[in-house]
Amino acid sequence: MKQEIVEEIKGIVGKDGYSTDIADLYVYGFDASIHHKTPDIVVRPTTTEQVSAIVTLANRTLTPIVPRGAGTAMCGHAVPLKGGIVLDLTAMNKITEMRVEDLYCVAEPGVIYDQLNGELSKRGFWFPTTPGSAEACTIGGMVATNASGMRAIKYGATRDYVLGLEVVLPTGEIIHTGTRTLKNSSGYQLDRLMVGSEGTLGVITSVTLRFAVKPEASAMTIAAFNSLVDAGRCVSNIIAKPLLPSAIELMDSVTIKAVNKCMNVGLPDCEAICMIEVDGHPAAVEDEMKIVEEIARKSGAFSTEASADKKKINEWTQARKAILPSLSRYGENYVSVALADDMSVPISKIPEAVGAFQRIAEENGVIVGTYGHAADGNLHTKMLVEPHSEESWKAGERAVGQIYDKVLELGGTVTGEHGVAITKAPYMQKERADSLDAMKAIKKALDPNGIMNPGKIFDWEGSIISHLRYPAFCDDRCGGCQKS
Ligand SMILES: Cc1cc2nc3c(=O)[nH]c(=O)nc-3n(C[C@H](O)[C@H](O)[C@H](O)COP(=O)(O)OP(=O)(O)OC[C@H]3O[C@@H](n4cnc5c(N)ncnc54)[C@H](O)[C@@H]3O)c2cc1C
Repeated sequence: MKQEIVEEIKGIVGKDGYSTDIADLYVYGFDASIHHKTPDIVVRPTTTEQVSAIVTLANRTLTPIVPRGAGTAMCGHAVPLKGGIVLDLTAMNKITEMRVEDLYCVAEPGVIYDQLNGELSKRGFWFPTTPGSAEACTIGGMVATNASGMRAIKYGATRDYVLGLEVVLPTGEIIHTGTRTLKNSSGYQLDRLMVGSEGTLGVITSVTLRFAVKPEASAMTIAAFNSLVDAGRCVSNIIAKPLLPSAIELMDSVTIKAVNKCMNVGLPDCEAICMIEVDGHPAAVEDEMKIVEEIARKSGAFSTEASADKKKINEWTQARKAILPSLSRYGENYVSVALADDMSVPISKIPEAVGAFQRIAEENGVIVGTYGHAADGNLHTKMLVEPHSEESWKAGERAVGQIYDKVLELGGTVTGEHGVAITKAPYMQKERADSLDAMKAIKKALDPNGIMNPGKIFDWEGSIISHLRYPAFCDDRCGGCQKS
């Protein structure tokens, strides 16, 4: 990067507001995905005006710029593929308004999900989307990926809570979308466009969010099955009752074994479990839990264990959250990677989907852990690969393609909550074939110079096994990315 650009950035954010230190640059080249690329500079603005000045500079000098929250996204979202500026928004971390009487609050993009919920819960409210990364992910990152989580079946995704946004467009212009009212039919819903835009259409500098009343009570049961397909069927049987649980988490035998190995929670050692949560008024919770356990047994569960004890529920929830790190310890030679990690299918298709994933894994000789927020049809698979074996990556990529073909055949989507970025780009392009041109036209209109988070979503071409964070396997197919 040219020294005069660095000097101009220093003039905007001061000497402590940026870094070109090689160690900082290396670290900011990662997110939670398999990818890596080192940026030229990391900038940490503290105000919307600073963001606007930095983006204006980037646009004028045609410098790529990638907004970044906590870097927990799993598909290479925050990896600066073309180098340039990483815009770290975590210093903009204040809750600037809390209006419980109007059911909304206003937060800067770097506010962490759990931090916001800490403040809301003191007042009897919550922002219930519950991503697995709740302790770390930022509100800006959640809006930019339309994040959700285990409670989406009952409470929806981030988009359902966004009332309005302040956005710095790729030209540097500051705009305000939406309102502070709960209803709004005033023109194009531009906040909806920004939700899920993955840092490609602008930088979100303030978020107005509605929230929900926190339920008084909850209870959870662990239903154990000898068949993954039966567990999948249990999910749709509960919904069809009709009964709306607050969460159903499905875990297969690979994930159960991995978690039992790493955490001392003693999950039933079986083919599959469903962790089913209901919440609401205490009397309703008690009644619904009885119905849930009856349906689980009729669906083939050989045991159920219910609890309304907060400590126990927390223990089980932590076990569920530990799946990703636990899978990495499944076998010494493997790492667990986010490949085909986040598909969604219509709820009734879960049994067919999980059966197909198992078959595809076996046929390709790869180990796949299947789990997920199954109540809303959102399944997560994590693949165990040998990071330095080209054959292992190739087998993984083959399986990914077949898994996504099956998902699309079942009427599903390649991503329910994590988003597209790099790792899902080719498959999303297949899924959205007839709307790619419309997306490109919107991008061109808002970002004519293509500076915002370039090379992702519809701009990605080629294999996803590229720009890898595992140097020993890096080769020239990705342009020597690890050598930068
Ligand atoms: C262990 C684990 C569990 C997870 N569980 C879930 C889950 O249950 N549900 C779920 O949805 N996701 C989950 N994720 C993925 C991830 O946490 C979410 O996508 C999260 O919303 C990303 O937030 P972040 O602050 O880390 O954003 P980052 O990773 O920093 O960025 C994500 C994307 O948003 C853009 N962005 C960030 N901030 C802004 C901004 N202010 N303006 C414009 N663009 C911006 C970036 O450019 C990037 O494209 C999980 C990840 C991990 C590691």
